[in-house]
This record gives sequence, C-alpha cells and structure tokens, in this order.
Amino acid sequence: MPGTPRTMEPRDEQPVDRPGDEKNVTPARGNNAARNAGAGAVGLALLVAKFKGLIVLLLQFKFLFVFAKVFALSWTFLLSLWLYVLFFGWRFAIVILLALAVHELGHYFAFRAYGLEARLPQFIPFLGAYTMGTPPDDLEHDAYIALAGPLTGLALAALCFGIGSFLKDPFWMAVADVSAFLNLFNLLPMVPFDGGRVIAAVWPPLWILGIAGFVIAAIAWHIPIIFVIVIGALGIPAIVAMWRGHVDPRAATLTVAARVRVSISYVGTALGLLFILSQAHVGTSGAVTPW
Ligand SMILES: [Zn+2]
Repeated sequence: MPGTPRTMEPRDEQPVDRPGDEKNVTPARGNNAARNAGAGAVGLALLVAKFKGLIVLLLQFKFLFVFAKVFALSWTFLLSLWLYVLFFGWRFAIVILLALAVHELGHYFAFRAYGLEARLPQFIPFLGAYTMGTPPDDLEHDAYIALAGPLTGLALAALCFGIGSFLKDPFWMAVADVSAFLNLFNLLPMVPFDGGRVIAAVWPPLWILGIAGFVIAAIAWHIPIIFVIVIGALGIPAIVAMWRGHVDPRAATLTVAARVRVSISYVGTALGLLFILSQAHVGTSGAVTPW
C-alpha cells in the first residue's frame, strides 16, 4: 500500500535503562530521611524513565502501524468468529474461519511473492474475507494472485481429506468439505469472486457464465437476498465497464500462451476442488455442512 511507514527506527531515542540516569540522582550519604528521600528520587526517576520510554515507544509510528494492523486483523476476525459461533456453533465456526484464513493468506503471500505490498486479511461476517494489495502490472500475475486463494484452499482441503481418511474422523472430512466448497464457489467466473479476476485474464465475456451460475446457486440453495444484493453491487461496475467496451489496459500485453496457462491453472484448481468436494462430502454424510 502507498504511504507505508518504514523509516522510523526507535533505537536512538529509547531512554530505558540508561546508566547515567541513576548516577545523577544517587542519594547523599547521611541520615535515614535523606536516604529514603534519595531512594524515592531514584524510584521516581526510574519510573519517569520507564514511563518516558513507554511514551516514546507508543509514539513510534512503526509500532502503532503494526499494532493497528494486528488489531484490524483480530477485531474483524474475532467479530466474525463470535457471530459464526452464535449462528453455527463452535465447531462449524472454527472450520469456516480456518478455511477463510488459509484462503486469504494464499492471496497475501502471492502478493508478497511478486514483491507487491499487501495488507493482512480483513474478515466480514457472513460475507467472507478479503485481502488488499498493490495490483501487479502483469495481468497474468493478477490472475495467479486471485487463484492463489482457491489453490491454498485446495491444499488445505486435500490435507484435511488425507487426515480424515487416515483417522476416519468426520471432523477433518468436514474441514475438507467446507474448504473445497467455499473455494469452488469462489471460482465462479464472476466479479467480485476470485474466479472473475482469473477469467479477466482469459476472456471477460465468460463472466456471463459466472452470473448464470450464481443466479442458479442463489435459487437452488436459497442464498439470502442481502448476500445476492451485496455480491451483485460489487460485481455490477466491472460488468457495466465490460459492456461499454472498457478493456483492462494490462490485457493488451497478454499473450495467447499466458491466457492458456491461466486457463489450465483455473480448470486444474476447479477440478481438484470438485474431486475433494465429492469425496469429502461422502465422508461427512452431510452431517456437519448445510449443503
Ligand atoms: Zn479469494
């Protein structure tokens, strides 16, 4: 992200444990009162030094930035966790958030792998989560960053499916099932889903398939209308832009070979997820997940 502070170093100004401070307030030898007063002064001076140290530390922008980042991550995460627990119970809440977090960290590390700035994931209760970062100049890289979420989701699903098969434990099968489902749904070729961004690097008119798929899913699974409205509102600007003939300028430099590579990666990830979903869903007997 632009404007990221990186230059402020706290070392020069930290006054904690400076040996000179104590020497300056060493009590004079004499009666007890003076000694006590001296000890008090030392204590006070140490307190002030420590307090000052804390203030200086708090005033370091870098520290505040890290704090804000962690807080922003944790409060949206905790809010989501709390609401999911209220609505779905502990087990399912943890399964959903684990699947979401792994997916988002896939995007996060893909941004970083291309040397781009990225913010830690933000969670939105009942809608999911998102990870913001600097868009790459290469549209093929953009597609892989979008695909990285479903791909790490597939890795999680495969790992949990393996553990579930080995232990014969329906809980791990449920994690595999949830992760596979969430990530496959996210591959719908429609903005704002990850699939929409991947397909933008292949051929944007394919978004119409995603919209049709989303409408069918919304009717078949009785997806709440508010969810449909929010997704629609997020997707409409890109669809209107495409309708008006607006083309992502990065698409001009995209070779046919690059488009084929993205397509193969997309289809491969989708097939992998579909396979895990079909296998893991049998393992849970539909007992944990609502679909
Ligand atoms: Zn994603």
